[in-house]
Amino acid sequence: MNKKIIIANWKMNSSFDEAQIWIENLSQKLIGKNVQTLPEIVLCPPSIMIDYIDGLLIENEFEEIEKMHSDVEQIEEKELEKLIASLRLIKLGGQDCHHNDKGAFTGEISAKMLKDCGGWYVILGHSERRQHCKETDQIIAQKISAAVKENLVPILCVGESKKQREQGVYKDFIINQIENSLPQNLLIKRLIVAYEPIWSIGSGVTPTIAEIEEIADLIKQELQQRKNISEFQILYGGSVNSENSGEILNTKNINGLLVGGASLDDREFFKIICS
Ligand code: PEP
Repeated sequence: MNKKIIIANWKMNSSFDEAQIWIENLSQKLIGKNVQTLPEIVLCPPSIMIDYIDGLLIENEFEEIEKMHSDVEQIEEKELEKLIASLRLIKLGGQDCHHNDKGAFTGEISAKMLKDCGGWYVILGHSERRQHCKETDQIIAQKISAAVKENLVPILCVGESKKQREQGVYKDFIINQIENSLPQNLLIKRLIVAYEPIWSIGSGVTPTIAEIEEIADLIKQELQQRKNISEFQILYGGSVNSENSGEILNTKNINGLLVGGASLDDREFFKIICS
């Protein structure tokens, strides 16, 4: 897969009104762009907004179809769904899902719920969830299984703390995270792994290109050994902005970016998409 992928992680930010403006502005900017040259764009808003944003996107896509076809009513439902999907430039994903299908898990959402409301992707194992929700690699492995079962593309986040880097144990730590967070016998058609050093997230500090390259190479070697993963992409995330995105995107074995804070501003995010 040659296309780069740019993922926005809004975390617990934005209102419905702000989301609507963001979608409107970004969609306007994307109109007329050559789709072939654009990266794959994914937005992971708070899960409660996915269905709403999906509806906004469908409205836009429907308008496009009306311009192309004089009688939309005549198009069969399945065909219409396919057309809508083919026009989708901003895909949606969740920031987490539960590892069980259903049950007494107050406040949680399942992979199926994410899928049903318009999600195609799901971020799993983000360091903030590992830290605040005490998620372990073993739980994350179960979440990956749950996501794959629902045909969601898992975006597995890995990355070391500042202390682990200083102590020189960061490579072993990341390899362990990958080994333990990926189910051994599950066939995964497409996996995204985002290298997100904890010390870079929200800090304005990014690793050097050589440091990113070293980890991208490490992750690639690890994933290549796995017979159960058909296709994978390696992303970098942590203090990405429009000033550093171009250089990071050109790093060997880096196939895209996971963008937190800078993705909240549609103009800044658009610049990152174009970099
Ligand atoms: C993130 O938390 O996934 C992230 C990349 O954050 P930021 O871009 O704000 O550092």
